Amino acid sequence: MPPAITMSDESSVEVAVPKAGAVVGAATDPHLADENPFEEMMARFDAAAELLDLDPGIYQVLRHPERQIIISVPIQRDDGAVEVFTGYRVVHNTARGPGKGGIRFDLMVTLDEVKALAAWMTWKCAVVNIPFGGAKGGVVCDPPNLSDTELERVTRRYTATLINTIGPESDIPAPDVNTNERVMAWIMDTYAMHKRSASQGVVTGKPIELGGSLGRREATGRGCMIVTREALKHLGLPLRGSKVAVQGFGNVGSIAAKLMEQEGMTVVAVSDASGAIYNPHGVYIDDAIQYCRDHRFLRGYPMGEEISNQELMALDVDVLVPAAVENTITRRNAGDIKAKIICEGANGPTTAKADRILNDKGVFIIPDILANAGGVTVSYFEWVQNRSGYFWDEETVVERLGANLVKAFGDVLDVAQRHSVSMRTAAYMLSVERVAAVHRIRGMYA
Ligand code: NAD
Repeated sequence: MPPAITMSDESSVEVAVPKAGAVVGAATDPHLADENPFEEMMARFDAAAELLDLDPGIYQVLRHPERQIIISVPIQRDDGAVEVFTGYRVVHNTARGPGKGGIRFDLMVTLDEVKALAAWMTWKCAVVNIPFGGAKGGVVCDPPNLSDTELERVTRRYTATLINTIGPESDIPAPDVNTNERVMAWIMDTYAMHKRSASQGVVTGKPIELGGSLGRREATGRGCMIVTREALKHLGLPLRGSKVAVQGFGNVGSIAAKLMEQEGMTVVAVSDASGAIYNPHGVYIDDAIQYCRDHRFLRGYPMGEEISNQELMALDVDVLVPAAVENTITRRNAGDIKAKIICEGANGPTTAKADRILNDKGVFIIPDILANAGGVTVSYFEWVQNRSGYFWDEETVVERLGANLVKAFGDVLDVAQRHSVSMRTAAYMLSVERVAAVHRIRGMYA
């Protein structure tokens, strides 16, 4: 694996959401200037709700997070000074099971961002039909400016303050931006000390030695490969020899590229933040991964022609995998895209306006909440293994992940065909209906 710039989990979405109110305005990140992923996500929820003729009461319930917690996280810095950070945990919905979602440490974290990310997790877990709801957390801090021991104190204090919120049966965190396996180990340890119980299932994305699952690291990229294979089959296109371009060469992009190459597809271009590499005969992915390990970025990789990220997006390929950051496919470049299939490895890579352009062109888009749900699916497997105390071999994880995603792809395709809607609208319809159905069965406790 090339060195990851940020650590992210099944749920990470680089959204920028303004400070106040449910209505979202301009984003704070310049490249999101006129398109905000949260607003777009909720607009897609609204569209699905309308098509489903959703009960107005359930609609209101799903628009409001169940729980929003703001905490102070005071720690003593290494020099003895006390500093107080702000932390959040939002549980959007637990109708289908415990809240599930990562914790990010970042200066840009806001409560509204965390709310958006928590809701996104609700839909993602429902579309792949795993028994989790949606949650998310964050601490407003700058990890590069914290020592390891300070980071540990932040993590442990955050966990201790939320000790009655998180738990294997209520709300299960995972890694996200700037948090990793080590942070999950501290959370698990703090929880175990307070509860006097070695509950491994309180977090996922743990080190293998501590109850992490084999195959978790590769799960999101593997999921991209699996749903792409299904899409090619559905469209009657051959797998072997299909041309692929992958934008983003981190955890998701590099693994997706590697596994697609293994399936006999020709990965003609890969890119990262430093630029893109094009080789019409196929980029040798292991070699490119090794180059990235040695040089941190792809720039200068000699086994191909250097092109720009924009040129990569416009290549004449069968499959395009945006696996970098949000909003890389906008109304400005959607018209140039020639791929027949887009597999959204990243969260929110396609804006609503771009979506319309691509739909008009007949591009088959596998939406993010389905395409990158392999990560949260294996997080679910990790939780199952922790609760049963029996660990699966990697083959079993891979086989069950495949079965789950093939089923989810088929379910979404079925809704898309029955209602003559896009795969994205179908994925939202399926997930919103699954959550709504549980609310109807459970009734309203008052
Ligand atoms: P990562 O940090 O490991 O990799 C990101 C890659 O994108 C890096 O190669 C980086 O150089 C590249 N990049 C950044 N900006 C770019 C740009 N403008 N153009 C081209 N490349 C750019 O992150 P990751 O874990 O691979 O996550 C990638 C995306 O997938 C994110 O949207 C994340 O939210 C989403 N996601 C990740 C997981 C997971 O399990 N890691 C799960 C679900 C969704």
